[in-house]
Amino acid sequence: MVDFELTEEQGQLRDLAHEFAANEIAPKAAHHDQTGEFPREICKKAWDLGLMNTHVPEVYGGMGLGVFDGGLIAEEIAWGCTGIGTAMEANTLAEAPVIVAGTDDQKKTWLAPMIREFKFAAYCVTEPDAGSDVAGIKTIARRVGDDYALTGSKMWITNASVADWYFVLAYTDPEKKHRGMSAFIVPRSSDGVEVGKKEKNLGQRASDTRAISFNDVKIPKANRLGNEGDGFKIAMGAFDHTRPIVSAAAVGLARAAFEHAVRYAKERRTFGTPIAAHQAISFMIAEMSMNIEAARLLVWKACRTIDLGRRNTREAACAKAFGADMAMKVALDAVQVFGGYGFNAEYPVEKIMRDAKVFQIYEGTSQIQRLIIAKEIFERN
Ligand SMILES: Cc1cc2nc3c(=O)[nH]c(=O)nc-3n(C[C@H](O)[C@H](O)[C@H](O)COP(=O)(O)OP(=O)(O)OC[C@H]3O[C@@H](n4cnc5c(N)ncnc54)[C@H](O)[C@@H]3O)c2cc1C
Repeated sequence: MVDFELTEEQGQLRDLAHEFAANEIAPKAAHHDQTGEFPREICKKAWDLGLMNTHVPEVYGGMGLGVFDGGLIAEEIAWGCTGIGTAMEANTLAEAPVIVAGTDDQKKTWLAPMIREFKFAAYCVTEPDAGSDVAGIKTIARRVGDDYALTGSKMWITNASVADWYFVLAYTDPEKKHRGMSAFIVPRSSDGVEVGKKEKNLGQRASDTRAISFNDVKIPKANRLGNEGDGFKIAMGAFDHTRPIVSAAAVGLARAAFEHAVRYAKERRTFGTPIAAHQAISFMIAEMSMNIEAARLLVWKACRTIDLGRRNTREAACAKAFGADMAMKVALDAVQVFGGYGFNAEYPVEKIMRDAKVFQIYEGTSQIQRLIIAKEIFERN
């Protein structure tokens, strides 16, 4: 049976996230975009309300919410500002591999403190020479007795400077390609960890993106997730949990652009009538509405599938590719509805358009999502 109704608890969770986005995020979004100041205070308030780390299981002190519930929150937060949303959601991405592959001890060590104290974590896979082509990473973890020595550089790491610990993918046996990668948790305070300058990005400027270098960093064996060789599977498996959430954020951004466009189309007059009365404008807005609804359904299906314990790789990639491309198009069209004012930083859709672009890039580009979908179609049947 298909039921599109939220439970009472889910409705309350969504309302809580929406109120928070409307009262705490949206009013400060322009400030963080213009200054690039990290939204620590806003994140702290979100953490106090239980809007961060929601998927940490109850046995480790968390709320143990599902991906669907996380998606409901992500859509509302992104409606307020996706830069601030990305700063909040980076924890979800870093924690997912620990939830998927960590031992009980590892979960106690790395997840439980995220609930007890206000902390950040970061997910470190991308490198200067390898993003889509994960097998092209060069970071190496050499075995030294019972420990490892980690050397290499990561790039574009969200929350790099504020994180307490990093999830890091590295080769333990480069000869074996994907099967020679291993996953580690690296405390930020380790000797040899160096964090670069904040990158000046096109959009989502509230979030903190930096390079990190690991210079012969000692990592105890206890910090390895899974066995040697499991790293690629763990890092990619985390995306099945997080891509639906990122896609939900794309829906939230598109909803904000749509709402601004509707309001403006009713107010702005040309040729003696509100521009909403011109079919070219009203159809553009009708298309926005169609695509937002369609994207949300893909997101909900991807979330629900994994919450039921089923493989959702294809659904998650569909939601991500469609959601990201949809958000970019809706944001572009919202700028068009605003005309010249859409091109100006005093009006909200300019920022939304800049923020939208990265949805087609991070957590796997729109091209890579299509590769995954094609692979699922042709290689798994
Ligand atoms: C703001 C921001 C935050 C990020 N946060 C994180 C983070 O927290 N952690 C992390 O690990 N990474 C993060 N990333 C990195 C992000 O995941 C990568 O940028 C992304 O995976 C693309 O990799 P790349 O930049 O190396 O592009 P490339 O892989 O070099 O791709 C360049 C272009 O070629 C296309 N392309 C590549 N291969 C193929 C192919 N086989 N077929 C068709 N097209 C192809 C791509 O789609 C893209 O258009 C972040 C990036 C940004 C911009």
